[in-house]
Amino acid sequence: MPKTLKSDPSDVRARNIRAVFRLLFPAEQMSRAELGRRVGLSRMAISEVVGEMTENRLLRETGVDSRSGRGKRSVMLVVDPDGWRIVSIDLTQQFVIRGALVDLCGRIVDRVEIPCENMGDVPLEIVGELCEKLLSMTDRPLLGMGVSVPGVVGQDGTVIRSVNLGWTNVPLRQRIETRFHVPAVVSNDTNMALLGECYFGDCSADSVFIKIGQGVGAAVCVNGEIVEGCGYAAGEIGHVVVDPKGPRCVCGKRGCLEALLSVSYLRERIDAEPEDRTAILSEAGQRLGRALAMTVSLLDLSDVSVFGPPEIVGEAFIGSMREELESCISADYRNTPSLHRCQQGDDLVLRGQAVAVIRGLLDSVHSRGLVEDVVHFTSEGEQSHHDPDEHSGKSGD
Ligand SMILES: [Zn+2]
Repeated sequence: MPKTLKSDPSDVRARNIRAVFRLLFPAEQMSRAELGRRVGLSRMAISEVVGEMTENRLLRETGVDSRSGRGKRSVMLVVDPDGWRIVSIDLTQQFVIRGALVDLCGRIVDRVEIPCENMGDVPLEIVGELCEKLLSMTDRPLLGMGVSVPGVVGQDGTVIRSVNLGWTNVPLRQRIETRFHVPAVVSNDTNMALLGECYFGDCSADSVFIKIGQGVGAAVCVNGEIVEGCGYAAGEIGHVVVDPKGPRCVCGKRGCLEALLSVSYLRERIDAEPEDRTAILSEAGQRLGRALAMTVSLLDLSDVSVFGPPEIVGEAFIGSMREELESCISADYRNTPSLHRCQQGDDLVLRGQAVAVIRGLLDSVHSRGLVEDVVHFTSEGEQSHHDPDEHSGKSGD
């Protein structure tokens, strides 16, 4: 949808707030003068923007710039980790639902897990229960809630289809917002892992992220934006046939990427022929490299990240994947993409989902006061205990 080009003062203000936050998130520090230069604002204008952001505890001042050395010392600004909390839920694990309280720098400050026997039929109630538990563990104001779901999620936060959870057309975002009276974001899990890797790991703004687990999924980021696709199913590459003579897949087809690369399939083969372990993993890496060559070339991506259990996605896998990728796409007009194993561990999805909540808030900043944007939402319900002013002086979670 084309955006209008009108530029009223509140748009400019919102854009400046976003620009300042992006420069500092998650762990940069800059002086007012440097921020002003980078955003293109006068001394007075940047002071005003920063003033509003510190007042609302998005930023805080910190010591002095150690880089400035002799002479005048300047106060530095950083993202304030203590002003707000985000509830982040990860529905991708087997037999357990994980949730965390995350600070504004994307760090996990507390966590809760609820065991879930039958992941193929997860009751919605259990998600609400986990949110309740996490809320009871903090006295900070809540910026919002985010839930990562293995499956196809529409723009309105409806889970269109999650085979793993047994959900079809579940209006999850709406349910959470109605119950908890805070903004909620519901996202595809692999997209959130990519977002986490971009901010806390090694991905650049043009990258593809591959997640190998019980299934195989991908997420693509172009120019810093995650590609969703016309039906929100971008990255659902698990059931694309790469070897028509390959093994039968759960979906009924033969030789899907997932049938050849899922962790359970590879473990089964290695258990049957332990002496062929390296050969099996090299072959798997080669297949993935070949399958991705077209995507990487089509979009001219600079990074490929692979996430999976270390005993599967190890040297043999990554080495032969790199070799295949390079030999498939080599050309004198193209840079070879960098390929690496994602090192962020199991918290990647939780942290990436928290980033999506923060970005969601910043995108919705308009003419009202920053905090008002959240509080207004909150006060539509009866949960006035999320009023940030009430708690801004308290400490401890
Ligand atoms: Zn399949």
